[in-house]
Amino acid sequence: MKLPNEQGYFGDFGGKFVPETLMTALKELEQAYIEASSDPGFVARLEELRHTYAGRPTPLYEAQRLSEKICGATILLKREDLLHTGAHKINNALGQGLLASRMGKQRIVAETGAGQHGVAAATVCALLGLECVVYMGEEDLVRQASNVSRMKLLGAEVRGVASGSRTLEDAINEAVRDWVTNVQNTHYLLGSAVGPHPYPIMVRTFQSVIGIETREQMLSQYHRLPDYIIACVGGGSNAIGIFHPFRDDSDVKLVGVEAAGRGLNSGLHSASLNRGRVGVLHGAKSYLLQNEHGQIRPTHSIAPGLDYPGVGPEHSYYKESGRATYTAVNDEQALEGFHLLCETEGIIPALEPAHALYYACQIARELPQENLVVVNLSGRGDKDLDIVLQAQEAGE
Ligand SMILES: *Cc1c(COP(=O)(O)O)cnc(C)c1O
Repeated sequence: MKLPNEQGYFGDFGGKFVPETLMTALKELEQAYIEASSDPGFVARLEELRHTYAGRPTPLYEAQRLSEKICGATILLKREDLLHTGAHKINNALGQGLLASRMGKQRIVAETGAGQHGVAAATVCALLGLECVVYMGEEDLVRQASNVSRMKLLGAEVRGVASGSRTLEDAINEAVRDWVTNVQNTHYLLGSAVGPHPYPIMVRTFQSVIGIETREQMLSQYHRLPDYIIACVGGGSNAIGIFHPFRDDSDVKLVGVEAAGRGLNSGLHSASLNRGRVGVLHGAKSYLLQNEHGQIRPTHSIAPGLDYPGVGPEHSYYKESGRATYTAVNDEQALEGFHLLCETEGIIPALEPAHALYYACQIARELPQENLVVVNLSGRGDKDLDIVLQAQEAGE
């Protein structure tokens, strides 16, 4: 069975829930993406930039001191934190930026919450000489001031969004509105494996480089595949990127880790797959956090990149089919994972993959040393130092 199908469905999830005006743009994008995928020139240019600009391949690193401390399975880290701009988001931004150029679109719009995707988009626009407009909720504009400065240094225009909750959700709506109006010369560079078809499959393809490398590295370094692959899930792009190349390896267990925030029963979390219901958000059908009237619920996570009320449709499909399992880790536990990696390995992780790390340690404790557990270390923690210091002060 081919997934997604022609209409962009993964089982019951996905699709294109958009106004008629966007249908043509999505169709054009899909066509361009299909053509580019089989154009050797496009593929070679992307490959070259991944290597010489972004810093791929990233290492698969055996965390020996961490594993000894846990006293169970051996933990391996896929080091996406070493990439240019500090996270996996550059993989997707490079792919979509090149695609926009190939389509002759000289202008990019993007949404950003914490600013990480905005920075990746602005970076690629500077690299390729494209105009860049980033929409950001006014609430986030204040909270993430240093990323706003970064985007401006990179030549992007940052537009504050004052509607709704003034966060990521509203920034997406505004970016889509701009795209509809300016579709002639504009590409919408969406930052995760969410949104209407073909975005989920396109973003997955650009992020699958993570899993393809991991598979090759496992075979050459360990002569076998891992027992577990564990990744954090916000919209789900770093997770689907590392999961996808292992989808037919039924012995490899895939685990997605959502943000339980202040606790799954507190109402303050971002665990769409664990606690959400099926509905439509941002053009696709998937699990999402909504109240009994179908309105989107406010979300919370200590990790800015996990703070999103929805999730990519392919994860909803994996959940229903049982191919992957989804668990949740709270703020306090993520901080524990964060400090543990700092102290045992000299690596300061982003708070998002710190959720995956914490869960990996829980699992590893129950397993023999020969078992291999891969964690996708999706980003580095420089961006999170203020949050961590504040949490420390509050805890003292
Ligand atoms: C944005 C971000 C995430 C969450 O996004 P996904 O699409 O779920 O991968 C995870 N880790 C880091 C470091 C991020 O910046």
